[in-house]
Amino acid sequence: MLTSVVGYPRIGACRELKYASEKYFKGEIGPGELSAAAGELRAAHIRSQKEAGVDFITSNDFSFYDGLLDTAVLCGIVPKRYRDLGLSQMDTYFAMARGYQGENGDVKALAMKKWFNTNYHYIVPELEDDMEIRLSGSKIFDEYAQARADGTETKPVVTGAYTLLSLCRYTGKKTREDYLVAVTAVYREILRGLEKRGAGWVQFDEPAFVRDLDGNDRDFIKRLYQGILAEKGSVKVLLQTYFGDVRDVYETLTGLDFDGIGLDFVEGRQTAGLIDRYGFPKDKILFAGLVNGKNIWRNHYAATLAVLRALRDKGVNTVLSTSCSLLHVPYTLEGEDRLPDAYKKHFAFAAEKLGELRELAQLAEEEDSETAPAFLDNEKLFSEGRDCADPEVKKRLARISDADYTRSPERKEREQIQKKALELPIFPTTTIGSFPQTQDVKKNRAAFRKGEISEEQYREFNREKIKRAVQWQESIGLDVLVHGEYERNDMVEYFGESLSGFLFTQKAWVQSYGTRCVKPPVIWGDVSRKKPITVEWAVYAQSQTDRPVKGMLTGPVTILNWSFPREDISIRESITQISLAIRDEVLDLEANGIRIIQIDEAALREKLPLRKSDWYKDYLDFAIPAFRLVHSGVKPETQIHTHMCYSEFTDIIPAIDDMDADVITFEASRSDLQILDALNACHFETETGPGVYDIHSPRIPSVDEIVTALRRMRKKVPDDKLWVNPDCGLKTRGERETEASLINLVKAAQIIRKEAR
Ligand code: GLN
Ligand code: ZN
Repeated sequence: MLTSVVGYPRIGACRELKYASEKYFKGEIGPGELSAAAGELRAAHIRSQKEAGVDFITSNDFSFYDGLLDTAVLCGIVPKRYRDLGLSQMDTYFAMARGYQGENGDVKALAMKKWFNTNYHYIVPELEDDMEIRLSGSKIFDEYAQARADGTETKPVVTGAYTLLSLCRYTGKKTREDYLVAVTAVYREILRGLEKRGAGWVQFDEPAFVRDLDGNDRDFIKRLYQGILAEKGSVKVLLQTYFGDVRDVYETLTGLDFDGIGLDFVEGRQTAGLIDRYGFPKDKILFAGLVNGKNIWRNHYAATLAVLRALRDKGVNTVLSTSCSLLHVPYTLEGEDRLPDAYKKHFAFAAEKLGELRELAQLAEEEDSETAPAFLDNEKLFSEGRDCADPEVKKRLARISDADYTRSPERKEREQIQKKALELPIFPTTTIGSFPQTQDVKKNRAAFRKGEISEEQYREFNREKIKRAVQWQESIGLDVLVHGEYERNDMVEYFGESLSGFLFTQKAWVQSYGTRCVKPPVIWGDVSRKKPITVEWAVYAQSQTDRPVKGMLTGPVTILNWSFPREDISIRESITQISLAIRDEVLDLEANGIRIIQIDEAALREKLPLRKSDWYKDYLDFAIPAFRLVHSGVKPETQIHTHMCYSEFTDIIPAIDDMDADVITFEASRSDLQILDALNACHFETETGPGVYDIHSPRIPSVDEIVTALRRMRKKVPDDKLWVNPDCGLKTRGERETEASLINLVKAAQIIRKEAR
């Protein structure tokens, strides 16, 4: 049995690409050096897959920033404002991804959104009516050729035409229909170009096929692919889907001239059923995604082999594959020296998953696989159980009643009580929590971790930083202050460290967007709060000022979504455990004089099922109550804020209101404030702070720009409900740009206050 990998991580096991790119952004290295670093990484990744015996290795899964953006560029989808900068190809690309402010002009970055139900973010390409769609690059050919020159035959990947057209933003009057012909021509040219270079296979990634699709979509998909495949030539086409099942298009896909179809058996609840019901064509190869590309637990061989055997019995020609790209898991367990083997043996990161593919493929061919050592080892792992239960946690869960999910009095009444108690001006200004994590901050934390400085020295440094941050915020006139989160490496890891049940890795980085990586903890066992987590810092900050300081917590849904979750208990139970732990912290902050508490739910939307019909029953029906459970115990005058990144919640606004927070801040500036219409239409009751500028980019917003944004917001949000704040936390920004930006933000709020009078 042959094996296939949908895609491999690309940032580098030691985040080499991140460091090289950041050097390039700072002008410390040139484009040649950056490209060379990238080439080395690509070669290394292909080498490790080859050494592990993978048969179908992917090329062109590398990207300097994002694969969808690469595909857009390949099709010539580069908006005019970026072309007009007159920059090199590489810099035009980075201008779209990160914005540009310099000699050639001043443009914001394109919008960024979560890639389906993952914590990876893609850049949203923009289609302009007068754009000329044509093959405009050679990256896919070059990377295929590089691998080939290095001695490896690969299947180059490119985002499929349907997913591309589904995720683009259409800025003019045209719709996907208007682009069908031009896009078809580009993909045909890709096929021809690959054929010319000798490629045997190409992989079209079409995760958009696992969403809800209707008759129109099916018809469009059919015409699109009939066109693309009409001149297929000798290159075989693998249609790769992932993140769910293709129930709405299964028969459409099997009826088209693909040579291989990749289906997800891990998240695709109906995948096996679809094959049972409709069969699988004899002339195609099924790439069966059975090794989980998203989670880090070992594969259960007995279960996987049973599926493979059933496929064989049906006569399906099968290649064993990962369920999606391994982009979503860390590189390797190697070097995780602090994790005892008793834990590690339950995990498989990307490199270990390659080993699983090989073992499974071998076992699948052995008659007596059930007595093979690899099989027996794996069975033992799953039969011996893990030490992960805490009876106290279970008892507390059992005691929760309906009343624990409801805060009183109602929000309307609380709003008045809070306005009196907090005495804030109209259009209160605030930030989202973190301040720049400058070198000194990181050094201090690292020195403490390594034991080079004492705990008291470490704390004293942080107190000094907090003191200065508070003074500075007060001096520029911000109304609700923050302590700056200097003690936090990461908003989930920091909390996880004070909660029982979490495990941490040293180097298990996963790409989140561009050069940003996260290091998700693993939820190993039952969760409870071991000790107060943030109280000390919030209380110290509050002692330095009379203005309210916001306590800053990460919410249960985000903690869960940004961790590798357990697979032995339900997500619902896991979230509820975390809610109770964070609830303890909320009540502690309140008891210690903190009057405003922000509970970040940056990742609330992330695990929202991809199909609408599953939204409530499979997710929102427990995720939203979990948030309420965290704050339902506070006094009416304590103001609860929440924060969400990426305002992609237009379609779940009632659920967001139902979180029953008093104030919500969210990213808006990169998505053109579209969310505001929806809030208005739904009579959103929560006070709102749509971000007035983009913090993912180093550019400094002018006062005018912020005033303009606020004027637009005022048309949609009642004055007494509108807050003024940046998009998100400022930890990734430099101090200089942060200061300049926030000074402008306060000035803009002052102007708007005068206008409102
Ligand atoms: N409070 C966090 C911060 O400011 C929120 C970060 C986030 O939303 N991702 O850093
Ligand atoms: Zn955010």
